[in-house]
Amino acid sequence: MGANIKRIAVFTSGGDAPGMNAAIRAVVRTATYHNLHIYGIRKGYEGMINGEIVRLETRMVGNIMHRGGTMLKTARSERFRTPEGRQAAYESLMAHDIDALVGIGGDGSFTGLEIFSKEFNIPVMGVPGTIDNDLYGTDHTIGYDTAVNTAVEAADKIRDTADSHDRLFFVEVMGRHSGFIALNTAIGSGASSVLIPETHLEIDALIKMLKKGVKRNKLFSLVIVAEGNANGGATEIAKLVNEKFDHYDIKVTIIGHLQRGGSPSSFDRVLASRLGFGAIEGLLAGEANVMCGLVNNKVCYTPLIDAINKKKDPDQDLIRMAEILAL
Ligand code: ATP
Repeated sequence: MGANIKRIAVFTSGGDAPGMNAAIRAVVRTATYHNLHIYGIRKGYEGMINGEIVRLETRMVGNIMHRGGTMLKTARSERFRTPEGRQAAYESLMAHDIDALVGIGGDGSFTGLEIFSKEFNIPVMGVPGTIDNDLYGTDHTIGYDTAVNTAVEAADKIRDTADSHDRLFFVEVMGRHSGFIALNTAIGSGASSVLIPETHLEIDALIKMLKKGVKRNKLFSLVIVAEGNANGGATEIAKLVNEKFDHYDIKVTIIGHLQRGGSPSSFDRVLASRLGFGAIEGLLAGEANVMCGLVNNKVCYTPLIDAINKKKDPDQDLIRMAEILAL
């Protein structure tokens, strides 16, 4: 199958993630090296439906490696969820004789790819681009490392003011369904505790831990909260804690969209380059309807259906370590 591929289109979809540009660059340059025609679709599935498809040349992806965001723009598309929307998208691709697709995004984008490839028998390749790191079949997703670095840098700054005023800060990071960012931000910033969607820490248990800290002369505290934690976000948790424990002056910081922006870390640039390169070489070798990921530092291909449906949770050993190191 791979040998028949002549024209590939690449797009970014879902939430933006730092490193998406580096992945686009790698896709375009690897495809060009193999004498393929490469096209860029603007604004994800929405642009596919609207026919926003342009030819990409090697020089057009120069000087983007270090930039956050995505030069192809990204979008969420309700129309692509409908058979009519996908039919229109297929017709746009056929107008350019596109015979394979590379989609850079998260599990929602991969669900769209999987459905589309089954309906229209077109080979597709997913590249994991999401700050959440919640995809099965890759140890890291593009953008995750940068997002954690941004959150740790912010937590370090909050630590300075928490220390000066003897305050308790609840710092909310992104992760509606996944605690990877929160857990690693907590470890990296030396926080007192972390609340993530995968484990359910009761408010009373959190208060008990904070009280222990007070007994050990902890003058200030940082608690990292994933936005999708079962008890609510940082604002709700701070309120619940404040009702029962008034030792500290309590403050809340929500880091929010800062975590999506900025120049990608060197780790994300290298990861994105490897996965973009692996995506094209994989398609040419006959890999189809898979996600190109990195497991144990080796590029590998996982069926999209597994990347979407199988769950990847934070390592229990890391969760235990974070608790011990926060003593
Ligand atoms: P992130 O992890 O950053 O949120 P994502 O890829 O999971 O990224 P979504 O908004 O979930 O982001 O999905 C992106 C797009 O994929 C949707 O806007 C929609 O166009 C398409 N998509 C998602 N699920 C489906 C589906 N079941 N059928 C068809 N298309 C879908």
